[in-house]
Amino acid sequence: MLICVIEDEAVIANAVAARLRNEGFEVQTAADGPTGVALCDRLRPDLVVLDLMLPGLDGLEVCRRVQRDRPVPVLMLTARAEEADVLVGLGVGADDYMTKPFSPRELVARVKALLRRVERRPAPAGEAVQLGRLRVDPEARRVTLDGEPVHLTPTEFDLLRVLAARPGAVLTREQLLAEVWGWRDGSGHRTVDSHIRGLRRKLGAEHVRTVHGIGYALEP
Ligand code: CA
Repeated sequence: MLICVIEDEAVIANAVAARLRNEGFEVQTAADGPTGVALCDRLRPDLVVLDLMLPGLDGLEVCRRVQRDRPVPVLMLTARAEEADVLVGLGVGADDYMTKPFSPRELVARVKALLRRVERRPAPAGEAVQLGRLRVDPEARRVTLDGEPVHLTPTEFDLLRVLAARPGAVLTREQLLAEVWGWRDGSGHRTVDSHIRGLRRKLGAEHVRTVHGIGYALEP
């Protein structure tokens, strides 16, 4: 497994790389956006750890470029938690976000969960579901609204697929974290909420119902 770490703060890049290498990953680092894009083009990594604020090209543009030719999971590092919400709303395509400062141990756990999630993806697809104007086809990983294709990030799609498998059922944030992200420690509520906002923005707010204090349901 090869991981590219694109981060201009050498202390963070080195700590992350050392920890990942300890866990048996091969790691290559880049300290600015253009070098990072070139590195990913050349090495085709299994996962990218990407800082948002980078010299040359920012993390948003790097994320777009590394995912242009093929879907590669991206863990984005941000300086403030609110930045992650904004990015999710923009549909940037990162699969997970971590806010600095973080422990390298936590980062390794997130990396492993993300890789497990990606490996699981080709698994049981299930049949296409029609919910009013919305159609979700797990096999083709395709979503249409009134027949028009909707572009979702891989994580948004997985979240929608899990909700669409049980229309009307309320799924707790813990259930969604376990099924979509593979996290079972109860952390990451903000992550669910952020991706739900991304889905609402793209599909229309009326499709996803919030059950206050509990979780979310897709309107049947
Ligand atoms: Ca930076």
